[in-house]
Amino acid sequence: MGKLMIVGAGGVGTVVAHKSAAQKDVFSEILLASRTKSKCDAIAEKIGGNRIKTAQVDADDLKQLVKLIKSFKPDIVVNVALPYQDLHIMDACLETGTSYLDTANYEPLDEAKFEYSWQWAYRDRYTKAGITAILGCGFDPGVTSVFTAYAAKHHFDEIHYLDIVDCNAGDHGKPFATNFNPEINIREVTQKGKYWENGKWVYTKPHEIHKPLTYPGIGPRESYLIYHEELESLVKNFPTLKRARFWMTFGQEYLTHLRVIQNIGMAGIEPVMFEGREIVPIRFLKAVLPDPGGLGENYKGETSIGCRIRGIKNGKEKTYYIYNNCSHEAAYAETGAQAVSYTTGVPAVIGAMMYLQGLWKKPGVFNVEEFDPDPFMDQLNKLGLPWVELHDTDLEL
Ligand code: NDP
Repeated sequence: MGKLMIVGAGGVGTVVAHKSAAQKDVFSEILLASRTKSKCDAIAEKIGGNRIKTAQVDADDLKQLVKLIKSFKPDIVVNVALPYQDLHIMDACLETGTSYLDTANYEPLDEAKFEYSWQWAYRDRYTKAGITAILGCGFDPGVTSVFTAYAAKHHFDEIHYLDIVDCNAGDHGKPFATNFNPEINIREVTQKGKYWENGKWVYTKPHEIHKPLTYPGIGPRESYLIYHEELESLVKNFPTLKRARFWMTFGQEYLTHLRVIQNIGMAGIEPVMFEGREIVPIRFLKAVLPDPGGLGENYKGETSIGCRIRGIKNGKEKTYYIYNNCSHEAAYAETGAQAVSYTTGVPAVIGAMMYLQGLWKKPGVFNVEEFDPDPFMDQLNKLGLPWVELHDTDLEL
């Protein structure tokens, strides 16, 4: 049993609050804190039973954060605010001797670039303080990294080729919307492609490489090679990998909107002058796009995310595909949030549970694949994200 503090009351925070509230034998007390307290209050009220306490906090303000952590005294802080807050929250955890978990790696506000170096730089300080940081504990990164660790532990002597495949075959009925924070999402999908091959990174133009891949229960969908953050830690932690890539499906309508947004400068992160004041185009865009947290009500269809792996077992080549399909409607019925928020929030709760149960608890800063995957995999089945394995199947890749 332990105390949980959640930072961020968006789509993912909604799911973390719902799912952790239901785990009464793991989380004794829960505090949901965010920039806009009314959002925390609305979530807490929906969950009911006085299970969730709420607070206002600006997570970019170290003093405020430290004060709140000191007064609530959580065992672990789950950061589901935005990647810009990662280092501030890690600093506050360090100052108060509290463990930390997040679902997305740090990204500076003024540069569309994400990498683990900034957070890995906390290793010595976290180790000395005797606290744990669990990095990237959503679905991708998160479950995909645990799937890879599970495959390497149980099904292969060496893994050689890894393709992470992420399909959202859902339909929210809007002409254009992003499934998580629009600013972070658009920064991610418009950058150059990048994958690991034979010991080095290979760069591509955005969306240059694509092909149809068949997703279980969904069918073929055009899938685009993009760079995704878990590749950075996976190629370090599984050095037998000869190639590691990430594929994501996009519909033509989505890509057309994205191209227009870019062409007219609305994806820009540099401030521009507008009516006598500075505005950042992508932030203004976020303000007029649908709120991802509000997409759930009419969202139909499923996500399907998994790992397709080729490697060696007992001297023979084998293939393996492990995936989860998640229904937007079922996610919404349970938590009031769509499947992208659900598939991120549930693993964050399981990660916090692993920490509190002492299963993923060691001093330092770790990516999720550095822990034992087995108890986490077990909880995925119990908490709403069951997985399926296919052996010696055609990987298409
Ligand atoms: P939202 O934009 O819906 O929610 C973000 C929340 O953080 C909002 O409540 C926002 O407050 C709050 N917030 C922002 N800045 C601050 C601040 N300075 N202090 C306190 N609170 C703040 O995002 P999502 O819920 O969709 O995503 C949350 C995180 O999950 C993101 O980091 C995203 O990258 C990550 N993610 C990870 C995935 C994975 O599989 N690993 C997949 C999808 C998302 P306010 O309401 O006032 O704006």
